[in-house]
Amino acid sequence: MKPLAEAQRAVLTAMEPLPAEAVDLEAALGLVLAADVVAPHDVPPFANSGMDGFAVRAADVATPPVTLAVVGDIAAGSIPVGPVGPGEAIRIMTGAPMPAGADAVVMVEDTEAAGSSVRILAPAQVGDHLRPAGGDVRAGTTVFPAGERLTPFHLGVLASLGIVHPVVGRRATVAILSTGDEVVPPETASLRAGAIRDANRPLLAAALRELGATVVDLGIVPDDPRLLRSVLGEAATSADAVLTSGGVSMGEHDLVKRVLSDLGSIEFWKVAMQPAKPFAFGFLGTTPLFGLPGNPVSVAVAFEQFVRPALLHRMGARRLFRPRSTATLGEAVVTNPEKTVFLRVVARAESGGWVVTPVGRQASNVLSGMAAADALAVVPVGVGDLPLGGSVEVEWFRSPETRTMEEVLGG
Ligand code: AMP
Ligand code: MG
Repeated sequence: MKPLAEAQRAVLTAMEPLPAEAVDLEAALGLVLAADVVAPHDVPPFANSGMDGFAVRAADVATPPVTLAVVGDIAAGSIPVGPVGPGEAIRIMTGAPMPAGADAVVMVEDTEAAGSSVRILAPAQVGDHLRPAGGDVRAGTTVFPAGERLTPFHLGVLASLGIVHPVVGRRATVAILSTGDEVVPPETASLRAGAIRDANRPLLAAALRELGATVVDLGIVPDDPRLLRSVLGEAATSADAVLTSGGVSMGEHDLVKRVLSDLGSIEFWKVAMQPAKPFAFGFLGTTPLFGLPGNPVSVAVAFEQFVRPALLHRMGARRLFRPRSTATLGEAVVTNPEKTVFLRVVARAESGGWVVTPVGRQASNVLSGMAAADALAVVPVGVGDLPLGGSVEVEWFRSPETRTMEEVLGG
């Protein structure tokens, strides 16, 4: 059995990043910048008002009230006018260019109309409500480094810079298949005796899409070595990675391992972790194959610990793993000290920080526990049992939405 950290290193170092390509901005969500982004111009591109109000010379309004002559009007989108001379003001809208001469904006709430003049009721400092050119992003600076994964907010910044074809690591194409004579499509109308619906492919397809990968669904392959050989051989030529589930444990029908060693090479099999111990990793030619165990929780945990970081790395990401933090156990736990144990936990915020409690039976077939969980508590090798109130590291795989409609309305 390989220690988890060693297995993760072996997987990550065996992965080559995919080539970069320019994509449309709308297609870039979740993909990873392949090069530093340098700002071609300032954002905002010109100094402008942060408020609806009056552009003034701050020195004129040091001791309000003061009456100034209104000598112009600037709307957002209009070209700069001015200058604003001593004793003068120009009415200005939010986002409109600052006129020459003015060095502050007094918001309309602090003024009073007085015919063709305005009474300024509050003092202004130089720079008040004025948004300087480059105040958000300066021309020539690195806005985002290579390796940054693009969120909707990144896309907004890129748009504001006119960068509408960012260069990103190519979207990984990942082939998935389930194995097992007992496994039938989820849409099967009535289950024959001994059959189970395929939970793993929908789980993996969704997890891959969330990651920004393109999914090639190869369906369910029965425990037939010849069939599996032909499907895997084909998959390897058309995908950047292949994910299988099932067929990697000790049973005589566990064929993935066998076919993988015939067709390609097994780098390792069995990791000192729970769940997902019988995880196998190898290559079909140059295509990495992740031989995930059959039990769905093992699939989920192996995906989190191996597949997700590996694909993020392939797509060019700098940061590969989910965030971790320390939490307090809301319940004592008993675990196998010979393995890194991942417990499905629900988390609640208390004044002293996060309290996490195992949810559902912690068996590798109990997928409902994974769905109910907020995080995985990670109990390292050598630890074993932990008491109620003990501290444990958790790896967050989702940030649960908070505040129901009732809570919002209740104030
Ligand atoms: P295996 O590793 O093939 O021996 O599978 C281990 C366990 O996972 C068995 O109980 C299988 O029936 C179950 N299993 C395998 N594939 C799937 C699947 N796609 N969806 C749900 N359970 C599965
Ligand atoms: Mg099987």
